[in-house]
Parts: sequence; structure tokens; C-alpha cells
Amino acid sequence: MLQSHFQVTCPCCRSCNLKSFYKQDSVPVNSVVVIENRNHALSYPEGDIELFGCEQCGFVNNQHFDPDLVTYDDSYEEPQGFSSTFQKYQSDLAEELISTCDIRNKYVVEIGCGKGEFLNAICSLGNNRGLGYDPVFDPIRISLPTNVVVKKTMFDSNESLENADLVCCIMTLEHVFRITELIADIRTSIGDSATKLYFQVPNAERIFNLGAFHDIYYEHCSYFTENSLRQLFSHTGFKVIEISQRYQGQYLGLLAEPTTKADNDIAYRPNYPSQPLATWGANLIQKREAMNNIISESKQNGESIALWGGGSKAVSLLNILNQPTWIDIVIDINPRKHNTFLPGTGHKVVNVDYLINNNIGLLIIMNPIYEIEIQNQISSMNIPLPRILSLN
Ligand SMILES: [Zn+2]
Repeated sequence: MLQSHFQVTCPCCRSCNLKSFYKQDSVPVNSVVVIENRNHALSYPEGDIELFGCEQCGFVNNQHFDPDLVTYDDSYEEPQGFSSTFQKYQSDLAEELISTCDIRNKYVVEIGCGKGEFLNAICSLGNNRGLGYDPVFDPIRISLPTNVVVKKTMFDSNESLENADLVCCIMTLEHVFRITELIADIRTSIGDSATKLYFQVPNAERIFNLGAFHDIYYEHCSYFTENSLRQLFSHTGFKVIEISQRYQGQYLGLLAEPTTKADNDIAYRPNYPSQPLATWGANLIQKREAMNNIISESKQNGESIALWGGGSKAVSLLNILNQPTWIDIVIDINPRKHNTFLPGTGHKVVNVDYLINNNIGLLIIMNPIYEIEIQNQISSMNIPLPRILSLN
């Protein structure tokens, strides 16, 4: 049954052309939690996904999403900063925003700042003051300068953003179901200030055109194309300065500023999204079946199979496979994940040293952007490279 908050109107472009195109029942409601007991992992709470897409602007959301099922607390282990590739991306982004928005000796607010790595970078590199909001923040994990403060809570729309020169919200909006309310609240909190906004979300067009089923998981209830992101901000009192593809097209970065003109700068694109919703659904199913076939063939050849990356993509993949037990092990470079178990299927996460004593025939890399970094790491251990498959 659909939740009571079922939407008939697109929250981005306000058209009524929403159609269901993909379903996935019984998936873990959190995918990056640290679970130390395998039985707890196996009995982790589940929810259902039914993706509805807007035929007008390409926005997609899970209409079965129930925010009360998702918990953001100290067990939430989302950092990607153990990868040098990601660290470089993050500090390059901080430098870029400092330069393009002239954020030096200024005040930066980050909504959904996670463990505070990006806020720390943009404040340190630009000599800025900073305020972050995130219930998963852990003060023991990071040493912040005295002019950077993080509140271990969700952003409270009653708090003023009038003094903020830059408001960032990076990889957070996709976790929000009531997106219009959040962006409208931010607009009200900014008031008449000349605050700049930087928002970053996964690029939905890439996910659905590629059929990247492993990029769909319960916490991500909202999926944005470039056009839907533009519509959302244009309808809530912002002028969109730029939307750019980032991280090899995996992310969309939006730069905006407040405006008093109503519904400005809305560029409707006919026949958007670029593929019909039915094709998006078919892409996801086709890629899923192809993955099942690859794993089945590898197993028939007697290979051991490992995943590299114990984050949300791995949890999504494992919980969708016909035979998840055919994946033997999950490797992750985040030491906090070692010897923990993934929700749903209970797969164990281990250190990369596992490859020294165990013969892995097929190594599935959950994000192609890390392939070179991973190959270099394995080569530095003087062990032969297994057959590698990077999942797009
Ligand atoms: Zn729409």
C-alpha cells in the first residue's frame, strides 16, 4: 500500500505526469550502518521501493519511502575520505567554490555535513568561519578549528541563514522526501542576503540511462536530473547560476542565489527526460540480470568473488542478486567497517589484506572511478591482480 504522503504532483515542476516504472521490495532501510553482529545484519529492518518518475522534468522518487524507518545516528558510516581519489575531489571542490564564489574570510553553513570533512576543508583553505548540521557528526573523528562548529542535529529551518555567505548541501538532498519544503525553508531563512548556494546530488540521468540498479537504495528517496533540479530551485525563489556534472558525471553540482522574481529562469525541455520512463525501468532490469549472469558464470568456473567497497552500492547489489551467497567477501578501506556485517545479506567486510591469503578470481569494483587507485593498491602488495569488473 502506498504511504499517506503519496504525491500526484511533481515537487520539482508541478506537473501531474508521475508514473511508476520500477519496484524493488524488501530492501534494508539503512545501507551504510556499521553492524557488529551478523544476526542483527540478517534481521535488519526492510522497506519497499517503488520509483515514480515525472515525464515532464525527469524527477524520480520512491513513493513508498517512510522517513521514520531511516535512522541517522552514530552507527551511520558514510565517509568516502579514506580514498585519495575522493579526498582530492573534495579539496578541489572546496578550492573551486572559494574561488568562484569569493569565499575567503567569510561564513559557510553546511546542511548535512556528515563527519565535517568538507566544511573543514573549505574553512581551512579559505580562512572561513563555519557552521555544520548533521546528526551523524562525531566530534572524536575530526579536529576542527575553533571557528568551525557542528551541531549534531538536522538543520532547523527556524535558524537564520542571513549571515551565511555560502550555504552548502552535498549528497544530502537525495535523502529528503519533502524537498520543496526544505528548499523553501532555506529560502525563507536566507531572507534578503546575497547568499550563494551549492547543492550536490547523484546524477539521476546517468543512473537510469545506464541501468545502475546498485545506485538505488532506500535512503535515497529522491533522484534528480539536471532539469528537475533546475525546476525545484527556480520554483522556490532561487536563480540557478549553473548546474554542472562532476565526478565523471556521477554527481550534479548546482550553484544558485536567491531572487525575488517568481518562477524565474525555468527552461522547460520538451520530451525530457532523454529516455522514456519505461526504458529507464527496462535498463535497470536488464543490467540486474546481466550482473546475475556474470556472477553465475564466475561461480560455475569455480571462482571466489569479492566486492570492493562496502557502502550503499554493495548493499544494494547484494540484496538484489538471485544468489547473494555467491559473493564470498566484501573488502573496504575504511577501518571502521572491518569485521562488521552488511544489512540484509550479512556479508562480512574485511581489510584489503584478505587478498594476500585468499585467492579471489573475480573482484567487482563498486565504483569505476576508484579502479586505478585499487589496482595500484593491490599491485603494491605484490599479489597478482584478480580479474576486475568495474560496475558502472
Ligand atoms: Zn517534474
